[in-house]
Amino acid sequence: MVPARPLPSFLVNRYLGWKAVQFAENRAWFRRLAEEGQHPRGMIVACCDSRIDIGGIFHADPGEFFMHRNIANLIPPYRPDGDLHGTSAAVEFAVRVLRVPHVLVVGHSQCGGVAACHDMCCGMAPELERETSFIGRWMGLLRPAFEALSLPEEDRAARLEALGRAGVVASLHNLAGFPFVARAIEAGELALHGCYLDIGSGELEVLDPENGRFVAL
Ligand SMILES: [Zn+2]
Repeated sequence: MVPARPLPSFLVNRYLGWKAVQFAENRAWFRRLAEEGQHPRGMIVACCDSRIDIGGIFHADPGEFFMHRNIANLIPPYRPDGDLHGTSAAVEFAVRVLRVPHVLVVGHSQCGGVAACHDMCCGMAPELERETSFIGRWMGLLRPAFEALSLPEEDRAARLEALGRAGVVASLHNLAGFPFVARAIEAGELALHGCYLDIGSGELEVLDPENGRFVAL
């Protein structure tokens, strides 16, 4: 038997509502997407966090953005070792096949992944240090950024914010390390962008490549 159950009724009802209203009103657009395939205007890498409405903040219609979400919106280093790399596969597809002209990495405030990394690196979360912790191993990508933090240890909130922004910067560096990404940038066909969204205020900051600072729009 397949380990699955029928959908709960609230999802069935919401789906039927969507089909009757949003889909019905945009039937032609969906048919065009089905017939012509996808030609997204960019790729967005965001966190899995349920509070981040990444399509909503950019008024995204279906077909406009190739989305990839993972814990703490991280891009791992380029590592063609035959292992299972879901995020790298998404980057490869977006850049090599869809040839998106933009890749945005969008970090956010109050990120649980970033807090987990911080606590693990402080020795406060031994369960995350185990080899068997998927979260711990994944968030280990941010350990160099943690070690580079210069804020005082008692200012945890500020350190988490700084670490979240540093994760965006580290991910952009890792992205640029994929040879096909580097080639697309060199050819003027691709631009990388770093953003940071404050959940409570709705403020979006954009990374200024000149000085490495995040500036609110
Ligand atoms: Zn997050």
